[in-house]
Amino acid sequence: MDEINNPGDEKARCKNHPERESIYFCSKYKYPLCEECARCPDPELYCKFRSSCIIHFLEKERRAGNGRK
Ligand SMILES: [Zn+2]
Repeated sequence: MDEINNPGDEKARCKNHPERESIYFCSKYKYPLCEECARCPDPELYCKFRSSCIIHFLEKERRAGNGRK
């Protein structure tokens, strides 16, 4: 068992920001991320969770937004 959160604390914390509540979760690497850190660590790599990955979806949205003229 990898215990990264305080016992009894139901809220997941960002892997990079322990003080922040995480709202995203990487199913592939099994860690929670805050909005700022919500990026796929291996976008080039095959990920079986990708079709339902909120982080990947978010990245696609970001890219679509950036690409707008
Ligand atoms: Zn973070």
